[in-house]
Amino acid sequence: MTNEEFRRYGHEVVDWMANYLENIRSYPVLPATQPGDLVDLLPAAAPEQGESMDAILEDFERTIVPRVTHWNHPRFLAYFATSASYPGILGEMLTAALNTQGMVWKSGPAQTELEQVTLDWLRQWMGLEPDFFGIIHDTASTATMHAIAAAREMADPESRTRGPSRDLVMYTSEQAHSSVEKGGITLGVGQENIRKIPVDEAFRMRVDVLRDAMESDRLAGRKPFCVIPTVGTTSTSSIDPVPQIAALAEEYGAWLHVDAAYGGAAAVVPELRGILDGAERAHSLVVNPHKWLFTPIDLSAFYTRKPEILRRAFSLVPEYLRTAEDPRAVNYMDYGVPLGRRFRALKLWFVMRHYGHEGISAIIRTHIGYAQKLAGLIRADPDFEVAAPTPFSLVCFRYRGSDDDNRRLLEQINASGKAFLSHTVLNGQFVLRLAIGNIATKWEDLEEVWSLVKRATKS
Ligand code: PLP
Repeated sequence: MTNEEFRRYGHEVVDWMANYLENIRSYPVLPATQPGDLVDLLPAAAPEQGESMDAILEDFERTIVPRVTHWNHPRFLAYFATSASYPGILGEMLTAALNTQGMVWKSGPAQTELEQVTLDWLRQWMGLEPDFFGIIHDTASTATMHAIAAAREMADPESRTRGPSRDLVMYTSEQAHSSVEKGGITLGVGQENIRKIPVDEAFRMRVDVLRDAMESDRLAGRKPFCVIPTVGTTSTSSIDPVPQIAALAEEYGAWLHVDAAYGGAAAVVPELRGILDGAERAHSLVVNPHKWLFTPIDLSAFYTRKPEILRRAFSLVPEYLRTAEDPRAVNYMDYGVPLGRRFRALKLWFVMRHYGHEGISAIIRTHIGYAQKLAGLIRADPDFEVAAPTPFSLVCFRYRGSDDDNRRLLEQINASGKAFLSHTVLNGQFVLRLAIGNIATKWEDLEEVWSLVKRATKS
């Protein structure tokens, strides 16, 4: 491809993106496709001769787009949203063009320093203390795995050479995201040593049970080494009592990691900063700008007040990566597993500068307001019930019928292509989850979904 052709197709692709996002409501949120459809449709082997960009773009439109689940759709209300905001997309495009690799400062000076700057800006927006050192990961799952590794390093520095000790025990709630347990499994903690503490009626970790569990482990000669509360759990967005959990972690000398992958974004809103109360005592915290801060996936912000411990756990510098020491040159490869690192900070910089603190806060506030309003409509309807408190922008609700009725309701809504909701199980009952977080979602979208839900129960 010549530079001239690149310019022409570049414009064509940007036009495609602008049209796509302008007309996003005309796409079905969930595609009508079956597993294997695309595999069957595409050639079994790659072409021997290069093909024209026209042919490739035509196939993109014909074969790929109809099989896409449209996360950008304003009525994508499943899981937790990730929105590709316009500035975020532009930043991502430039990242691909620059194609830098920020393993050490020298391999990406701008990348390294923009990562420092944007994460520090975000830290300030969330009201966290300046002693939090930030590093970008692909996902919260990766970030949390690093937190557990640092916790192990703090509790058992020998583990790096000797391998993991069987005595280490970690704690989270039974509502914690599966990434917490997966992190423990990956690091050899062993599922037997991961305590999932029961929750109260509002789905928050029970501190009394946590204390008993930590104490009985201690008495049995085991070492409580890591406690992971959540601010904004996946099923209900509940907020664990971090201040009390922090006090227990301190008492037992355990690392405190706060999983605020989704909920942490709300702390950007000045009057909601209190949701991170207690996080100032955490050893680490994760928040995902790719969830509710309108940054295209992937970008997870991991913060730690103990970067030296993280570094002790991960730094391993072979000769070919050695660079001159400089106190201002951060080599991010020293703080985690990945060597190769994308220039993710660029898209976050674009997003933060484009919207500003007030702009982002206004959108998050609006989403929370929508969720409250919708929960109010649901509560007022005798055929439905709200199944969990709504502290953020996630509404959990159910039709007052059987689990099968609710399952059918969900299938019917999702099959319509007009909206995509997901589900969870709370207190043994099947519950619908409607998570607001897309930058393009308007109240009219939610009204439409609510009437769709009501109509589906009548049919
Ligand atoms: N933690 C919480 C509370 C989540 O809700 C999720 C995903 O929804 C994760 C962690 C995992 O996020 P990621 O996909 O970035 O690994």
